[in-house]
Amino acid sequence: MRNKIIIGNWKMNLDLADAQDLTFKLKTSIKAKRPTEIAICPPSVYLLTISNILKDTPYIKVGAQNMFYKEEGAYTGEISPIMLKDLHVEMVIIGHSERRQYFNESDKDINLKIKAALKFGFTPIFCVGEDLIIREKGEAEIRVKHQVLEGLKDLSSVEIEKLIIAYEPIWAIGTGKICSGEDANKIIKMIRSTVKEKSTAQISEKVRILYGGSVKSDNFKEHIKYPDIDGGLVGGASLNFEEFIKLIDLANNVHEQTQSHHV
Ligand code: PEP
Repeated sequence: MRNKIIIGNWKMNLDLADAQDLTFKLKTSIKAKRPTEIAICPPSVYLLTISNILKDTPYIKVGAQNMFYKEEGAYTGEISPIMLKDLHVEMVIIGHSERRQYFNESDKDINLKIKAALKFGFTPIFCVGEDLIIREKGEAEIRVKHQVLEGLKDLSSVEIEKLIIAYEPIWAIGTGKICSGEDANKIIKMIRSTVKEKSTAQISEKVRILYGGSVKSDNFKEHIKYPDIDGGLVGGASLNFEEFIKLIDLANNVHEQTQSHHV
């Protein structure tokens, strides 16, 4: 059975004091291992500070929001995998729609970044999702499948097994519009069968596939109960301590209910 995971993407938010404060609150509240894994992705300039706060807290992983695929060189403003390694980062968000949209990241760039992340032992959180025009044309599945295939290009099954994939319909990110659990589950099932085509049935059952897009505790109840939805990539709601904890609790409750059905 796949463990659920809730990942907070803080984007370009919070000042250092607020980032530290939120991290300390999470650290105090999450003292024991629960079935749901937890990760936070602070802005890169805070990564070292946040990693140091969480050094003795194995239950909260730290991720970066982006990474360049080159290891070093004349790439002003970029951050290399080697640099992230020094910051005790375990995961990296790759191909977030805001990177694709505002920084022109292509499927090819994303594929290179996934390969670089894997080479350095990070878990890539590989994001895919369609925009509103594509959804209204009825082409969401075709677009997302294409993104998945491009992202997974030339990866071995062993590498594919290490990925986390996040389905994030662009029209639902930061807009307050939510993709229904049923619709998200349909796309996530298609992503899982695409992973199967590119690896094996066994591996496709191991890869975690998350939903993201205006996730909040009052709407996520619906999504998290679908067995194919393995958690959430959460933007806005991850900046609010109480909300973030509620999302983790929701995922833990689903896990416990599933366990009790199995005994
Ligand atoms: C995200 O950051 O990936 C995201 C889905 O943002 P939000 O939850 O704010 O829509």
